[in-house]
Amino acid sequence: MRRKAKIGFYALTSCYGCQLQFAMIDELVQALEKIRIECWFMLDRESNENAKVDIALIEGSVSTEEEVELVKKIRENAKIVVAVGSCAVQGGVQSWEKDKPLEELWKTVYGDGKVKFKPKMAEPVSKYIKVDYNIYGCPPEKKDFIYALGTLLIDSWPEDIDYPVCLEC
Ligand code: SF4
Repeated sequence: MRRKAKIGFYALTSCYGCQLQFAMIDELVQALEKIRIECWFMLDRESNENAKVDIALIEGSVSTEEEVELVKKIRENAKIVVAVGSCAVQGGVQSWEKDKPLEELWKTVYGDGKVKFKPKMAEPVSKYIKVDYNIYGCPPEKKDFIYALGTLLIDSWPEDIDYPVCLEC
């Protein structure tokens, strides 16, 4: 890409750990010569989420009706969608108890508290939209961010990286 690539980093239901890992990449400052961050939920939740971007990075599982709409909008506005981290790629720990009713899970976490959003079972992003590439891990390793983004930024395509169950394996 000759011009600066436009990047968006969005969060769904997540701990923001993947975004934090991204923020801690030393090479990010250098990368700013090649990229322009249009939207980054960790810095500003109300940031420009409707921006057209070249690469959308999505952290978190789809766990509310509102997030279903959000991922569809992100897909419409992005040339490439990358699911980042176990929550986005596989649904995360919040998706593990699918055999229990949503109401029961909900009460365990929130009791009778009122919330503004409409909950649903946590699912990976790919359940609702086409995902072009996955970066695995919880959080992903910095080198995997660098490899994936660095490859996309030279108009090439990163190979899939199998993520080991155990880092020692
Ligand atoms: Fe947090 Fe891990 Fe989910 Fe990333 S994958 S948002 S680090 S729980």
